[in-house]
Amino acid sequence: MADFSELKKIIDEHSSFILSTHVNPDADAIGSELAFYLFLRKLEKRVKIINHNATPYNLEFLDTKGVIEKFNADKHTDVINSFEVFVLLDLNSAARIKSMENNFRSFKGVKICIDHHQDPEEVFDFIFGGTDYCATSEIIYEFIKYDNTVGIDYSIADQLYAGIMTDTGSFRFERTSSHIHEIAADLLSHGVNPTEMYDNIYNQFQFGRVKLLGEALHSITLDSSKQIAYMTVTHKDLTKYFASEDDIDGFVNYCLTIQDVKIGILFYEMNDGIKMSFRSKADITVNKLAAEFGGGGHINASGARLYHVKMHEIIEKVINAAQKYLK
Ligand code: 5GP
Ligand code: MN
Repeated sequence: MADFSELKKIIDEHSSFILSTHVNPDADAIGSELAFYLFLRKLEKRVKIINHNATPYNLEFLDTKGVIEKFNADKHTDVINSFEVFVLLDLNSAARIKSMENNFRSFKGVKICIDHHQDPEEVFDFIFGGTDYCATSEIIYEFIKYDNTVGIDYSIADQLYAGIMTDTGSFRFERTSSHIHEIAADLLSHGVNPTEMYDNIYNQFQFGRVKLLGEALHSITLDSSKQIAYMTVTHKDLTKYFASEDDIDGFVNYCLTIQDVKIGILFYEMNDGIKMSFRSKADITVNKLAAEFGGGGHINASGARLYHVKMHEIIEKVINAAQKYLK
């Protein structure tokens, strides 16, 4: 983990920054990107945000000016190479930017990671943040405070609040501290409306998403120990309700609402394989479980993708692996 003084120095010494975030971006991904974008723009830097995915529909409201671009290799490769600094936010391994991975690896300028996940890949020139932060947006907040030039304004505060609120599970997950509530209080003092923010993110889903949730809940199964609950979402379910992968965000948490359940797993059928989302309570390290399948993440929230496999082929294997993590 590098010191904020180094990040400040990099910003002082360079004038153009390309920002990107992980596949299936969440509100911390989008919020931290947009907050950092706004900060750098205030410093009159040349800045561009390019992501692998288009912004999920329920987060589009954050990008009020429509500055986020969806990556297109033909259009963006030369553009990216014309920038001096490439910043990845809310992820720490280049594979998580999917179609942009090669552009990042071959980038000749300064490569930066601003993130709060474990075990960063050794591909960055500098890494800022660390697992003590509850959200990448918290890192951006602390940096803007440290920098002490342009400061926090309403539009930056709104982005940061979106990231912090969602990555703390609306201020209930493990890393919810008194300090994060102080930060939230500061963001509210800049005009953030918490009711409106919650409503925009969590109460504006398409009808099909709620119906799809119904199917996912219906699929919930307990393992023999009754401490692992898992659900499935198939391609067929998605088509039936005109839903998209973005709609599944948050479903897995319902597994943990069941008495005695300590690990929740969602199996989602992608076009070319299975995505797994893992959630856990207390000190059950589902990041290690995810790593067994080539994924990663946080202690209590992680994921992995297995390609060219079918749901029925892997469920038992994954549940058996998960059982080792129960105390
Ligand atoms: P979700 O289940 O919400 O998609 O992801 C939860 C967390 O798991 C993410 O914040 C991310 O840290 C991690 N994660 C999800 N999918 C993957 C993956 O395919 N690879 C890695 N390394 N981490 C993942
Ligand atoms: Mn995050």
